Amino acid sequence: MASRMAATEVSALLMNCKFNIESLENVINRIQILRNITSRMHPEKSLPSFPIMQKVNRQPTGHVLYLRLESYVLTEKELQENHFPRPDGTGNTKFYHSERTNKEYFANDARRCVRCSNTFENSCSFHWAKLATKQCGNSFEKHYKCCNGKVNSIGCTVAPYHVHHNNKFDTSGYKNTVFYPMSHMHLQVFSLDCELIYTTAGMEVAQVTLINSECDVVYETFVQPDNQILDYNTR
Ligand SMILES: [Zn+2]
Ligand SMILES: [Zn+2]
Repeated sequence: MASRMAATEVSALLMNCKFNIESLENVINRIQILRNITSRMHPEKSLPSFPIMQKVNRQPTGHVLYLRLESYVLTEKELQENHFPRPDGTGNTKFYHSERTNKEYFANDARRCVRCSNTFENSCSFHWAKLATKQCGNSFEKHYKCCNGKVNSIGCTVAPYHVHHNNKFDTSGYKNTVFYPMSHMHLQVFSLDCELIYTTAGMEVAQVTLINSECDVVYETFVQPDNQILDYNTR
């Protein structure tokens, strides 16, 4: 009886299986449960043993991960709405802005520091970490993660220079990615991280790291910035 039930359940699971990790895990888990039920109902019978994969890799990698993430790739419209630099059709690069972001990014007082929000006078006193919301009794308060300081409190870190990122929307120097035809089986997912530092021009890249879906570093390099370094942004 239990064996018939097991066979029916497993074949139903396999019918629905689209060869993904969850389906495989479901099948393995159900086989294990049904084996336990069978051995409780028939303790006198020793069940024929067959190998069950002990450990299923829960993290898809390679082209399997690519296929999983493919539906999340941003459309051209979404890329533009989120201000990614895009080719403008004339060989140049363009940032697409709404009325609001135009004001926010281009009507700013260029002499205001992006770290301490003050004008470029005296030293730069700032909080190096972000604000986090904490529950205090029945209410919620925001505190800086670096020193637990409240909003508008005096910065816990002092730097010799104020900094800006006025080059954030500089459209020069962009290149299109080279198209390289390949089969679906060879498509991969990579994660790119860039360390940015403050220079006299704004923010410039200082290090580039690329990892594959197995978290192996496949490329890593330091980059010499074009302008004088003001802060390595380590704090
Ligand atoms: Zn400052
Ligand atoms: Zn702080």
